[in-house]
Formats: sequence, structure tokens, C-alpha cells
Amino acid sequence: MGGCAPIVVQSMTNTDTADVDATVRQTLELAQAGSELVRVTVNTPEAAAAVPVIRSRLDDADCHVPLIGDFHYNGHRLLSEFPDCAVALAKYRINPGNVGFGKKKDAQFSTIIEKAIEYERPVRIGVNWGSLDQSLLTMLMNENAASSSPREADEVVNEALVVSALQSAEQAEAIGLPRNRIILSCKVSSVQALIAVYRDLANRCDYPLHLGLTEAGMGSRGIVASSAALAVLLQEGIGDTIRISLTPRPNEPRAVEVQVAQELLQTMGLRAFSPMVTACPGCGRTTSTYFQELTEDIESFVREAMPGWRERFDGVENLSLAVMGCVVNGPGESKHADIGISLPGTGEAPIAPVFVDGQKFATLRGESLADDFKKIVEDYVANNYPRK
Ligand code: SF4
Repeated sequence: MGGCAPIVVQSMTNTDTADVDATVRQTLELAQAGSELVRVTVNTPEAAAAVPVIRSRLDDADCHVPLIGDFHYNGHRLLSEFPDCAVALAKYRINPGNVGFGKKKDAQFSTIIEKAIEYERPVRIGVNWGSLDQSLLTMLMNENAASSSPREADEVVNEALVVSALQSAEQAEAIGLPRNRIILSCKVSSVQALIAVYRDLANRCDYPLHLGLTEAGMGSRGIVASSAALAVLLQEGIGDTIRISLTPRPNEPRAVEVQVAQELLQTMGLRAFSPMVTACPGCGRTTSTYFQELTEDIESFVREAMPGWRERFDGVENLSLAVMGCVVNGPGESKHADIGISLPGTGEAPIAPVFVDGQKFATLRGESLADDFKKIVEDYVANNYPRK
């Protein structure tokens, strides 16, 4: 992670970690969706005791996704009293705002860092504005109030987030944690604040950075807010690992956050995970719903085929498909994809030209159109991506 390595997608379970069955089930779901790191909360002795069992159950299921332990308040105790948990975790996430308070803070922070050194684990120092170190914030606010040119209060909060992360990293290094085992994050829930904080953080250090808009919200609001903030930063080369902190709708799979993170990286051209299906939005020229149904059908077909394709073909995730609704943009857009189909709009002849690598390849018509198109896609995959 960091440097020129690909940007890593991570997610977090929302099960009670002490509930081994539920946590294993959800971790498998997240890993199968493509989460490359999965964070679990480790908040109680029962949760800490469950972690090695979860690790072993995942390994038995041939799932080796690294688990990150999320510690607040009692991480020093849990990592000391449950060494199997410390070993089973691939990384520890700690929050300088609640690692300890008053005189105990330094000792508790040191204990966690010493455990990371002992077990050769990296640590993410994850600051969050909902639990910002209040003594640091008060000190910076007082300094600001005494300044001849005081800054706005929210700028001081942003500064406190960055200073908290940097001071904690410095402290961890002083204890002996190697510099290349430290990751930083400073999460806030405002898009503009997140951009400002991470730009500042990236200017002031070279640690790998974990990006995420905390408490992004539910549904399209959460997706839009996270994408808006993260896209700006990723475009500037800031960020080594990302999480989309969506609140799932009741009964919505947790793995939606993984899909959104992958789609964000893929639509920005930063990584490829699965073939992309481009489709036009439709308009008055598509009076039937056929083209919407075909787009959905092709997306499902690709999603279902992908696990098998991934096993057999190298680079198939880079395949691009286009499903377009009429002759206005259909042929043009279809030519930009590896394979594109231009459906007939209102009043057009009931035929659908298919373009492969920019050239007219076939003309489909009739009830077998969807199946014929899928066959063209399957043949293209088999012929154009080297077999593993
Ligand atoms: S391609 Fe045709 S159907 Fe699709 S939005 Fe454009 S004009 Fe409308």
C-alpha cells in the first residue's frame, strides 16, 4: 500500500464481532464483492476472543482477506490480553482522540504501538472529527484566539485533525514503529472539509493515506458525497486506500459500499475490476423499455460471468461494452467501446447494428437479439484475453 501500489478498496463489517457466524458471513460477502481489506470492530473481550476464530473460519473457506482491528478506548488492554487476536489481525486501527485520556493517554498509546512492533503489524492512525482530541483542539483554539489574525473556527478544527494525526505518527515512530508501517486518515463528514484536510495532510507528510468521507449517509446522497470528495483527492494523486462509508438501507447488502468504491476507481480510470457497461439515459426516442431491460440484462450477464472469466482470462476486467438507445449517438458511442450495440429508436428500422473494436460486425434483429449479443461478447472474451 502507498507509493505506486494500486489504490486499495476496503470496507467494514457492521455485525457484532463476537457473533462469529454473522461476522464470517459478512466478511465473506465483502471479500467476494472485492473488498481487499475488511475492518472489524474489536470493542470487548468477547470480540477480541472471536477474532482468531473468525480468521481461522475465513481461512478454512479459502478467504484470506486481511482483517483490520478497529480499536477505541480499550485497545491497549485487548491487544495485551488477547495475543491470538493481535496475531490474527493484519493491521490495527487506532483513534488518537480516544486511545486514552489525561495522564493515561501516552501509556495506552505506547502499549498499542509496542504490540504492533512486537507482532510486526502496521497501524492506521485514524483521526475523526467526531472524536477529535479535545485537549489538542482546546490548545489550538486558545492559540488562535490569542493570535493577531485569528482564523475561522472550522479552519482550526481542520488544523487540529491534521496535527493530531501527525503528532501521533511522530510519537509512534519515536516508540519504534517503522515509518513504513504507519497509515494516516483524518475523516470528516463535510466534502469541502475533507478535501481541505487531506490536501494539507498530503502536503505535510508522505505516509500512505486512507480516504473516506465519514458518515456519508444513505443511498444516492452517500454515494454522491463520497464520490465528490474522494474524486477530487484521487485526481490529485492523494489517497492509497479508500472506503465508502454508506449507511445501508434496511436489508441492503453491506457489499454495496465495495461496489461503489470499485466503480469510483474504475470510472476514474485508476483501476479496473469488472467490464463496464456504458448506456445512454434514454429519451423520447426510446419509447419502449426494451433498451433499459437489455442494459440490465447485459449488466447481470457480465456480473454473473465475471468470476469465471476472471479465473480463465487475463485482463477481462478492462472489457468495455455499450448499449445505446437509438441511431443519434448509438453507432458513435458503440464504436468507442470494445463491443457496442445500437438499438432501434422510435421510427427506426427494427435492426440493431453491433460494433466490435470500432468496426461494424453484425446486425441483430428479432427475439434472439439479447442472446445473440451475449454470444458475441462471450466469443470476444475467449478470443481477446489470454488464457491463464
Ligand atoms: S442515444 Fe438516442 S435514445 Fe439514447 S439518449 Fe441519445 S438520442 Fe436518446
